[in-house]
Amino acid sequence: MCVRRARRDDHRPRRFRPWILRVVTTATLTAVFTQTSTARGDEVDVTLPSRLVSSDQTPASVATVTLRKFPYPYRAMLSIASDADGLTLSKFMLIHRYLNTDEHTLLGKGLGLDIADSYFFFIGTDRPGFCDSYGTRWADQMSYFSRLSTTDLHNAKAIQVFVHGGWIDSLHSLGDFSMQNEKNTRFARRFAVTAVNEMKVNRLALDIWINHGNRSNVGNFGDPESTYQKGDLSESKYYVSDLMVPAGIHFIWTRRDSDFGRKAMLYPIVLRDGRRVWGFYRFTDDGYSDKGQVLWNWSPLKLGEQLSAVHLQELEKSGSYSIIAQHLGGDAAKLPFYGDNLEGLVRLMREYRAGRLLVTRTSRLLHYELAQRFLQYSVDVKGGRVGIHAREIADPVLGHHVPTLAELRGITFYTAHPARTDLYIGNTLVAPTETVRNPRDQTGSASIGVRWWPAQTGDLTHVLPEKLQMPSHRTGPPTPMPRVWQEDSSWGSN
Ligand SMILES: [Zn+2]
Repeated sequence: MCVRRARRDDHRPRRFRPWILRVVTTATLTAVFTQTSTARGDEVDVTLPSRLVSSDQTPASVATVTLRKFPYPYRAMLSIASDADGLTLSKFMLIHRYLNTDEHTLLGKGLGLDIADSYFFFIGTDRPGFCDSYGTRWADQMSYFSRLSTTDLHNAKAIQVFVHGGWIDSLHSLGDFSMQNEKNTRFARRFAVTAVNEMKVNRLALDIWINHGNRSNVGNFGDPESTYQKGDLSESKYYVSDLMVPAGIHFIWTRRDSDFGRKAMLYPIVLRDGRRVWGFYRFTDDGYSDKGQVLWNWSPLKLGEQLSAVHLQELEKSGSYSIIAQHLGGDAAKLPFYGDNLEGLVRLMREYRAGRLLVTRTSRLLHYELAQRFLQYSVDVKGGRVGIHAREIADPVLGHHVPTLAELRGITFYTAHPARTDLYIGNTLVAPTETVRNPRDQTGSASIGVRWWPAQTGDLTHVLPEKLQMPSHRTGPPTPMPRVWQEDSSWGSN
């Protein structure tokens, strides 16, 4: 789930607060020295303030406190960010019962992984054919409202359950508005007005925006160089960022990327209306073919290659993040996972269960990175105990703020004596039940941290009203695993 933060109403950059000045004036301080962090992300040009360490004893006794990159014992973090294209409610349930739960499902024993999806509010596509083998038209893909109605609901109740339960954490812009003739569009600003109202009334405040679709999706925003995206142009009739950003959209995916892993996923974006948001990378392709075409790898067919043993090992070795772009429901007639791509998922589960790779939903990965990169903390020693005080997240894009416990989930500090170290938010002790003390890891150092989110492997489809659960004719004997993949086809060939 997204974390609500104290948010400023304006979007001007805020200078970082001078912690040094404030701490220096406290009476107990006898020594102050700083460590300066550097932004490690590609294309990240934000300037980080110093982290601050203070002590009423010798500085050397606390100098050993440093921030671990990932929650103990993990060495890397990965999420799968799947686009809603081609999903139906049945497909969604089939896919996420397998990925998220530990139930026996049509696809096998559930993997129990924290993998969230995206959803559409509206469907305004004229794509012909069907998005499943039951004859569901593309206009009737899984969506909140029925096609372009702003009153008739389609899968709203189920989507509410999945958003609240954590199986959905992203908006696939405001819908699927892709037209066969890309010069046409059915998009209008009123869809954003309706969506924002629904987000407020039904607590659907997600903060991730997936900017995907063809040139008919004129309400997209996030790529200032785009010639078709008009969602952040205040003079355009398709202007919506004035509604969507205040409604909570803070993280935008907007461009392809052929790097499987990165030291940091977030980079700042200034929209054309001046609003500031974070952009984030997703692994979408393997670069270009000899003919200059993008070699997209974001279909389930390529999941095994995306999640290859080499990729996962390199990620762990380099201590990096990865966000895999996918279209898990994208195929019209085939089961999503089989053969190599099923093996990729099982490989991922094994890395997670071995404590090497933390697999989590995209929103949690992004919030964790934000906290880990920009956390300001101070350290003191009193009565023989080391206190680590999380002071603020010096977010250079969205604004500085005191962190909540939710934002600090997973934050881990190396400390010489975990048993004699305590964690605070400001000067408030983090509850012992939310604190974890860890033995030495591969670096030889012990650590203390805020407990990561509890595993959640319950079956959310049981929460749905019975009539929304999988129809009986779709829960019969498992379809034989297909061995031949029909690549997500071009327009009209479904
Ligand atoms: Zn998409």
